[in-house]
Amino acid sequence: MPGGVNSPVRAFRGVGGTPLFIKSASGATMTDADGRTYIDYVGSWGPMILGHSDPEIVDALKEVVARGTSFGAPNELEVELAEEVIDAVPSIEMVRMVNSGTEATMSAIRLARGVTRRTKLIKFEGCYHGHGDSLLVKAGSGVATLGLPDSPGVPASLAANTITVPFNNPTALAQAFSEQQDIAAVIIEPVVGNMGCVPPKTGYLQAVREMCTQNNALLIFDEVMTGFRVARGGAQERYKIHPDITTLGKIIGGGLPVGAYGGSKELMRNIAPAGPIYQAGTLSGNPLSMTAGIVTLRRLRDTAVYRQLEQASQRLCNGLRLAAQDAKVKSTINRVGSMWTGFFADEEVVDWSTADKCDRQKYGKFFHAMLDQGVYLAPSQFEAAFVSLAHSDDIIDRTIEAARRAFATLER
Ligand code: PMP
Repeated sequence: MPGGVNSPVRAFRGVGGTPLFIKSASGATMTDADGRTYIDYVGSWGPMILGHSDPEIVDALKEVVARGTSFGAPNELEVELAEEVIDAVPSIEMVRMVNSGTEATMSAIRLARGVTRRTKLIKFEGCYHGHGDSLLVKAGSGVATLGLPDSPGVPASLAANTITVPFNNPTALAQAFSEQQDIAAVIIEPVVGNMGCVPPKTGYLQAVREMCTQNNALLIFDEVMTGFRVARGGAQERYKIHPDITTLGKIIGGGLPVGAYGGSKELMRNIAPAGPIYQAGTLSGNPLSMTAGIVTLRRLRDTAVYRQLEQASQRLCNGLRLAAQDAKVKSTINRVGSMWTGFFADEEVVDWSTADKCDRQKYGKFFHAMLDQGVYLAPSQFEAAFVSLAHSDDIIDRTIEAARRAFATLER
């Protein structure tokens, strides 16, 4: 396997050393091949909001798997998951299931281009929307971690159709709209996760919405990470913004491969076979992925869940902030709900240029000092960390104590 991994950030290039090989995971912890157990804040990069190996999901999967793993034909479970998504996400009236977040965003931009009959896209520096050609331009996540320039293999003619502007800067977006014609869509992580967690400034998403409307461009909220994470209805519920198209992934598959995109019925009826814009998938809507998603989303109907996640995450981030202050380590923690990042930065992190100023080496040292004490953080400064419902106060307090010791080693 290239780099020994099936997805780049896993290889620990962002922090040095060699990756753990994980044998099993349960609740808030993962156990490696050597039998060491770690408190996990990666949560498979977002899906595991209930914690690992949730018993209800495991039982439901056992029951469903015995009846077949994929039919390539309609089944009731697809309808049930679609209903959960439509009920929760304010702007989605009709939804198509796919198999990953990448597939969801690729399909969403095809829909936007097909409907508007325009070509160009605007995205934001440091936002990651999967590895589709049109979106792998000034992308965050693993691309930023490896410090790669834009990826070879993306045709220059395609990249030229993607305009990038800084996040949290309405003036830059207005300028892009005034300079460029033919803009089909603006795609945004409404709370960025892929340069680390970066929340939108007050009024920013509203300004983005208004500019899209004025310019007849569609607004795509990439909620692959934020969907069912920052609120049940995602960032669009939390910030009360109505995007035209929403992409989902991660949590809606409950730890199995799923993505989805949706919007108004009027817009989604352009997708084949209802309309002419083509998109298909052999394993899309398979009963295993649908089942894990249904169990997860039904549990997330209970509003107490989001209160618990908020309280646990606040306890953690307050504790980490105090521990860093006591050790006189310069840092700033961004958090929205149960999604957060601690940056080794002198100033606030509000966009890619401020994120990029972080002390990556210090992050690497901190990461390893935590790992040595049995706490598994994201192996990159430019990723969000996640708290799950399985992160008890005791687990969080142990994390904070480990961080106190880790910060102390940084100063020496
Ligand atoms: N969009 C966002 C916001 C993401 O965070 C990710 C993955 N981290 C993707 C798209 C791509 O999803 P996947 O890895 O499932 O293709």
